[in-house]
Amino acid sequence: MKKSLVLAFILASLTACDQGKKEALKEEPSKKTESSKIAPPSEADIPAFLKENPNDLSGLRHTHSHKGYQQFDFNTVVDIDKLKKTKGKLYSSKEDVMKVLMGGVKNPTGDKELWKEGLMFEGVEPMPWLESAANWFPRTEKVQPNEMRITFMGTSPVIRPGQMNTSIYVELGNGDNFIFDIGEGSIANYAAAGLALNELTKVFITHLHVDHFGSLPYLYEFGGWAGRWHEPLTVYGPSGASEEYGTRWMVDGMLKMLNWHTDAFDVFPSGNAIRVVEFDFKDDGGVIYEKDGAKVIHWRRSHAKDGASGYRLDWKTPDGKSLCFVWTGDGRPSMLDLKYAKGCDVYVTEIQTEVIGLSSIVQGVPPFLGRYTVDTHHTPGYAAGWLANQIKPRMFLTTHMPFDPYINEETVAQVREHWKGPYHFGAPDGIVVNVTPDQIWVREGILPDYPNNRAPQFDMRDGKDFVVPHPRHARKDIQQQEIRDLEVDPDNYYPKDYKPELLTEWPTKGDLVMPAEQIPESMKKGMGEAARDRAKAREAHGLDTN
Ligand SMILES: [Zn+2]
Ligand SMILES: [Zn+2]
Repeated sequence: MKKSLVLAFILASLTACDQGKKEALKEEPSKKTESSKIAPPSEADIPAFLKENPNDLSGLRHTHSHKGYQQFDFNTVVDIDKLKKTKGKLYSSKEDVMKVLMGGVKNPTGDKELWKEGLMFEGVEPMPWLESAANWFPRTEKVQPNEMRITFMGTSPVIRPGQMNTSIYVELGNGDNFIFDIGEGSIANYAAAGLALNELTKVFITHLHVDHFGSLPYLYEFGGWAGRWHEPLTVYGPSGASEEYGTRWMVDGMLKMLNWHTDAFDVFPSGNAIRVVEFDFKDDGGVIYEKDGAKVIHWRRSHAKDGASGYRLDWKTPDGKSLCFVWTGDGRPSMLDLKYAKGCDVYVTEIQTEVIGLSSIVQGVPPFLGRYTVDTHHTPGYAAGWLANQIKPRMFLTTHMPFDPYINEETVAQVREHWKGPYHFGAPDGIVVNVTPDQIWVREGILPDYPNNRAPQFDMRDGKDFVVPHPRHARKDIQQQEIRDLEVDPDNYYPKDYKPELLTEWPTKGDLVMPAEQIPESMKKGMGEAARDRAKAREAHGLDTN
């Protein structure tokens, strides 16, 4: 954070913008939609270069394939007769070579469908552009034009250092990104994943339990401080049984809670605009977001109180196919889940493994409390597996789960009672899922404990003005002169001959506006990267890049 602070000061001294209005922009609740069905994707216009290689983004590294020896075809690769004639060397027989190369892997299945080992399913394999099949490292791989990348930024209802509260980040190959739930502490993992806070402008909240929105105040304030100056933070969320149980009420309350903070941060260039899109929670299948080939619908979940919702994101890839992600949020297994999640590529449900007795021994919690909580609010492990087997996703993940050695085995056992297909935990924090129409792969992301925060991101392509808004307050507006006068004279603590020029007042009178062309290259490189990537991604989709 220190680095960003310093950077913000540098930025501010260079540039400045409009005195935006400190108000929550509000929208009408979404209109009911006639169709509760997801329309099949239509054939999209595919740019020529994508037809040739749908996975290519020019200028990006494609290091190696991980297909390896699984796909090794001895007959086309090795000519044993030719080898035998070479320089009198004695080569091993085809049978011996195959025994070694294929040993431990080949499992003759014949016509019979056997139980698959681990994640070894058709199409469950790493894409060639992944730097490692084992781990994801922040900012080492670009999301490809036909790819969806899903990262679990918070994975547990019980917050603890290894697991923040629930949050799932979804990036699309068209440069767009979505946050689904933003539980307490999860924002730290966004920073660790190499994201600037002002890249995050859309949050979809499933319900108003605090373990699903606890990081919203931080994202709102510090994202506004760290460069989200020109567009609002948009919060999508359900209505409740009455007004005071809806998302807008929560956001209004949050703004009240943050009153001091917001006013204090107004000595900086800061973005205070927040937009609430509160939808009618009863409108099962209603569309609440539709842009650039991406569409989000919602439906009711049974979670002890009206308002809890599940989300489905459908997105058309440039090759005319579609990818789908479902996050159920919390709730009991429901027939609506089957209806709206059916056939989705990546189905993510919450799960509560049935270990009531065991947990009560380990944690000392009376069993009835666990039993009652699960039976009124949550999806038991067996139910999760049953749902998956109905929905038949290409990859099934469970999250909102404690990642504990004494529970994990039981979780798998309960899910496997019904679902024999591709399955992975969406836990602990940092699990990454890469999805294309043909392949899907799940890895553990390596999130550093002490990441350097990514610089605020701006569109610094040539022709774009860089605008820093003027702060709404001067310090003197919100602070007594007396307490400022009592500040120790810096001459008392700075070493002799060290005399920095202190920046005690905002250095400019109005907004600072400068053409991006005049910004130092090093700054453009660090602060303009996301916009450049996004433009490239949008271009690949034939979308407007301005
Ligand atoms: Zn929860
Ligand atoms: Zn909940």
